[in-house]
This record gives sequence, C-alpha cells and structure tokens, in this order.
Amino acid sequence: MAETAGSLRYRDQVVIVTGGASGIGLGVLQVFVHNGSKVVFCDIDEKAGRDVETNLNVKGPGECKFISCDISKEDQARNVIETTVQTYGKLDCLVNNAGFHPPHRPIDDFSTDDFRALNEINVLGYFTTCKYALPHLRKTQGNIINNCSLVAYIGQSGAVTYAATKGAIVSMTKALAIDEAKYRVRVNSFAPGNIWTPLWERCARESSNYDKTIKTGKDAQLLGRFGTIEECGLVCLFLAADATFCTGININVSGGAELDYGFKN
Ligand code: NAD
Repeated sequence: MAETAGSLRYRDQVVIVTGGASGIGLGVLQVFVHNGSKVVFCDIDEKAGRDVETNLNVKGPGECKFISCDISKEDQARNVIETTVQTYGKLDCLVNNAGFHPPHRPIDDFSTDDFRALNEINVLGYFTTCKYALPHLRKTQGNIINNCSLVAYIGQSGAVTYAATKGAIVSMTKALAIDEAKYRVRVNSFAPGNIWTPLWERCARESSNYDKTIKTGKDAQLLGRFGTIEECGLVCLFLAADATFCTGININVSGGAELDYGFKN
C-alpha cells in the first residue's frame, strides 16, 4: 500500500463500498481510506465489518464507518445511503461490490429459487443502492462503480446463474450511464478475473481438487497469477478520481485472461 499512501488522490470525498468487510470490497476500502476518503462500508458479516472499522481507522489518513446490512433488503440498503448522507452531508461515489458466487454446477442442478435468491443479491442489491444514491450523486456530480466480473463477458462453465447476474450489471451500468449523463454523474464498471479472496478460496475448497483448481485459476491469467484486492482498489480509485471523461466503460482487472484465443506457439 506504500505507493498509494499519502497521495490523498480522493481526499474528503464521501464513498460507499458494499461488501467491504472482505475480499475485493476490503481492497477498495483500503485504497480509498489511504487516499483520504471518508468511506462508509456495509456488509452482512457484522463481526468482520466491526474488525475492519477498528483496524482501518487507526491507519487513516481517511476514515471508515461500518453499517451492518444485507444488501438484498431494500430498507437496509436505503438506510446505508441515507445514514451516509446524514453523517457526512453528501455522497461522491458508490462502489457496488457485495455479491455471491454459488458453487459451480450444470443448469440442471440449479433451482429457480436458487436463481431468484442470487438475483436478489447480485442484481437487485446493485439496483437498490443506485436508485437511492443517485439523488445525492446528482448534487455532487459524483460517480458509480459497479463490480461485475469477466465471466459477464466470456462466460464460465458451471456458472450459468452467476454469469447472468453479472451480465445484467454490465447492461445496467451502460443504461444508467446514458440516463445520468445529463446530471454529469458517471457510471462505470470493472470486471475482475481471478482475484485471490475468501470467496475464491471457498470455491476452490468446494471443487473436486483444491490444488488443481488453484493452478487453473492462476494459469487462466496471462500474467500467471491471481490478482490482488489492492489492484482492484487502485482501478476503482482511477475510475473515481482520474477517469473524469469516462462514463459507461468497463475496465478488466484480469491479467489478460480474455486474450490469446486458442493458438499456442
Ligand atoms: P468475498 O466473499 O471475499 O467478499 C464479499 C463480501 O460481500 C463479504 O464480506 C460478504 O459478507 C459480503 N456480502 C455478501 N452478500 C452480502 C449481502 N447480501 N449484503 C451485504 N454484504 C454481503 O468475495 P469477493 O471475491 O471479494 O467478491 C466480491 C465481488 O467481486 C462479488 O460481487 C463477486 O462476484 C465479484 N468478483 C469476484 C471475483 C474473484 O475472483 N474474487 C472475480 C469476479 C468478480
């Protein structure tokens, strides 16, 4: 984190990160706090959220506050937005990240209830925060950053429901970017490849061969490794602080996993 500490590239900006107690959301939170932002993060895991709040606030120069929330519940999601604005008086950036990846399996083994439940988190959870954040973001000409997934663009075996929810986020990002441009609100997304997080490790443990799954996960990236949560955070910082003429775009944070179609020299 040394290269971002002290640069304060998003100083005093008020940022919400959903699912910030673990994994990619935690990386985003860390980078913004190191750059002077006031970050409100929510998570369904209250204990992990409280731990992060205590530890990160010591390290500043920004600050973070935790709100316990299940993002799939509209009243709770709305409360995160309203509490943030009551606390800090404004909102500059919303990072939608809280999501879930069910174990890989063929479509035959997913029920419609499984798919409905996943949509509640991965799609409705993003829709609701956008809906309640936008009236505030229009006042600051702020921005939204949606975490989708490379899977939304290139698909993945055993992930039909997950891919569908992430594809919805790519489309939602573009449609919102069009509607909100007149308010000078930017809406962008980033698409992680394989990023080493507790979610990824859980997926590997649920697979038939842990070591093989880890190796496959690394090899899928042209750069030959997992991405880090900080690397995702730095892309979000770029979108929020620097990419001021970009809206409706997506940045792959994937080590080139989507390249090199089928021919090995
Ligand atoms: P993670 O499990 O490490 O972290 C996700 C966090 O979201 C957890 O703290 C969890 O408690 C929280 N969360 C889950 N459901 C929630 C809910 N209903 N309300 C509030 N908080 C909730 O996972 P991660 O790997 O960091 O994934 C974060 C996002 O990145 C997800 O949307 C995931 O689909 C996406 N993603 C991850 C990868 C990867 O390789 N890790 C790749 C592509 C996309």
